[in-house]
Amino acid sequence: MASRLLANRWQRIATPSPVKMKSHQSAKSRQRVENLPNRHPGIDHSRVDPDQSLLLEQSLRMFKLAGSLCFYALTEPYRALGRKLGWPSSGTSVGLFYHQVKAEEHDRFARQMATLLRTATPVGAGDSTATASCQRSVFVTADDGWKSFVENALPEMERRSIPCTIFVIADRLGDRIGDSSDRIISESELHDLRSNLVTIGSHTLTHARLTALSDEAARQELLESRLKLEAILDRKVDLFCFPFGAYDQRILRLCDQTGYQRVFLCRPESESHRTDSFVAGRIRADPSDWPIEFYLKLVGAYDWLASVLRLKKKIVSWLKPARIESPTRLETPSAGIGSGTSGSLRFSDRIHQVDQ
Ligand SMILES: [Zn+2]
Repeated sequence: MASRLLANRWQRIATPSPVKMKSHQSAKSRQRVENLPNRHPGIDHSRVDPDQSLLLEQSLRMFKLAGSLCFYALTEPYRALGRKLGWPSSGTSVGLFYHQVKAEEHDRFARQMATLLRTATPVGAGDSTATASCQRSVFVTADDGWKSFVENALPEMERRSIPCTIFVIADRLGDRIGDSSDRIISESELHDLRSNLVTIGSHTLTHARLTALSDEAARQELLESRLKLEAILDRKVDLFCFPFGAYDQRILRLCDQTGYQRVFLCRPESESHRTDSFVAGRIRADPSDWPIEFYLKLVGAYDWLASVLRLKKKIVSWLKPARIESPTRLETPSAGIGSGTSGSLRFSDRIHQVDQ
């Protein structure tokens, strides 16, 4: 039933023929997922070389923690005063993203959710109205759709009425990916997740790195995954998160054209000044986070990383030889694509400046 609905909608909407699209779901993109470096959790989303030593990883973690403590010490007095006086600019909006939560991590995760409730107001990932009305808001997301998260984490969130958005890899439902003890939830398990507290978003069809794909292939990953999930859930799917956090202006435009209302990064992006942003930052959270580390994430003390990452990208782009890019490709709206809210004017309104 779901696949028939999907096929019907796809024929109405898509420009390329369905036959062509299916064949494009190539072994290559599937292989890309299967060949991912295997690190806990099952799919490695980090930008850190998996061969890096544990010592280096821990040093980086300590460095980020120290930076966040300094950032917190410098900004909290102003924010505390602003909270008392009701200044809108003193508010923080933080997004967390998890992957797996194994059975042995259940208690730690439950304590984190208790801390979240004591510290901030939980809001939905796509709920900018609730976010704007809170001085300190946090939304929780989970990438890939791991069964362990659904089994061990979701009940703790539902018990506390904390909304959760799960980004699912639409063509990998039921698959084991790099972890023999866990798998992605099946289609029927996904269907059973329907509740007011759980929102399902797309995480592409195959967990492809979108920036490496052609326009047509990237559009297929974006649009077909959305339609497939909508057919299974019988409800609108308009949130998206980038596999590996990989995106650029071309991919953002395609997200807009294929009907997404909000897209999510895998790095912080300070939102305290703008809660209706098309692009939302998130910070990775894990049940193994130290309590102080988790608390600082909740209160936006890791936001300074957004500026550091932007600066790093600028320096890298200065050092690289200039790349000539056709401006017309980015500016021309793609005719006939989906039920998107596209149009370059609308897009530029929504996207606000995102540094690459
Ligand atoms: Zn992922």
